Amino acid sequence: MTVTILRNASVLDAADGTLTPGQSVAVEGDRIADVGPGLTGPDDAVLLDVGGRTVMPGLIDAHTHPAIVDQDVFGLAEWPPTYVAARASRVLAGMLARGFTSIRDVGAGEIGLARAVEEGYFTGPRLFYGGKQLTQTGGAGDWRAPSRQVYDANYYSPAIGVICDGVTEVRRAVREEVRRGAHHIKVYLSGAVDSPSDRVDSTQFSVEELTAIVEEATAANIYVAGHAYTSRAINRGLRAGVRSIEHGNLMDDSSIPLFKEYGAFYVPTIVTYQALADRARDGLLPADIEVKLRAVIDGALGALELAHAAGLPIVYGTDLFADTHDRQLQEFVIRSQVQPPADLIRSATTTAARLLQREGELGVVAPGAIADLLVIDGNPLDDIRVLTTPDQTLKLIMKAGQLYKNEL
Ligand SMILES: [Zn+2]
Repeated sequence: MTVTILRNASVLDAADGTLTPGQSVAVEGDRIADVGPGLTGPDDAVLLDVGGRTVMPGLIDAHTHPAIVDQDVFGLAEWPPTYVAARASRVLAGMLARGFTSIRDVGAGEIGLARAVEEGYFTGPRLFYGGKQLTQTGGAGDWRAPSRQVYDANYYSPAIGVICDGVTEVRRAVREEVRRGAHHIKVYLSGAVDSPSDRVDSTQFSVEELTAIVEEATAANIYVAGHAYTSRAINRGLRAGVRSIEHGNLMDDSSIPLFKEYGAFYVPTIVTYQALADRARDGLLPADIEVKLRAVIDGALGALELAHAAGLPIVYGTDLFADTHDRQLQEFVIRSQVQPPADLIRSATTTAARLLQREGELGVVAPGAIADLLVIDGNPLDDIRVLTTPDQTLKLIMKAGQLYKNEL
């Protein structure tokens, strides 16, 4: 097994929010073998002098849609899935180049994409996927135009959702995703901004359906992520056992005790609303979607402030799609209005790893962890912006012990 040793490193500990200079990081195969001063290896070990730069864990984006490759998300559902996969490969490569070594796909990504990355056919981050998002008829993932009756239930049409109503159908929908290896289940707890027929302040699915969804996921040892904007929808989801709340822009303080009681995670995705607002400014958004956008965009930072002040586990997420993925690191800048750098780094490393149930394996530079490593010019604990200019400041990318960039 190849041994690589990164020497002269300042190792970032995300949990403590500290940087320790004068360290070496030894990598054997796909794992970190050791961390400490002056490590040596076998004669054929590859030695890399990082010149005192920061060595930190690879980033995790816990709310992504690499398979939503076009702004016309409804038209996309008619595209050949092989063509969508080809375009998704470019999105995935871009994410890895920004320093994201793991992502959680919360809609449309599935086993084929994950396997293509894992086996090296596509270059990209490790993919944790949930397959189709569960949606009720007329819910946020029901992308039929009002005049369309038929829904193409072909799993491999590139639509984001699977329509299911009633306890029997939602159980089957979860079991189908489990059958395809889902790492989690994604469910719409409320309307969405980009959906054709619902309201962001609605609630979706009955309590009985939500309870059944969580029960089926729990039976398979996976968890449920819930899309919601208002506390009315968030609180129903939390009480049913949903483990992460996505977006949550219109959350009020009634949700805080429930997050704590159930040990749930909060995944804001503020940058995507800014990307949509820019499209609206350029006259590229339909009027009804623009109205919904305005309702959620003002609440986003306030919800983040509320969650941060309450000490909730906050996870990095972006929710970008189509041609907006180049903003993936801007979420750090937006959130830095509320959160200090150490918290921001934890949100994309240790806290995200806990959400993914990969604590100690991902998001840390420690013996036994998967060797996902970045070398950064600068100290992100002082200035988070050094993470947002990968062309200049990201000098090395390693995923599972394999080098994808080396500009040392
Ligand atoms: Zn999303």
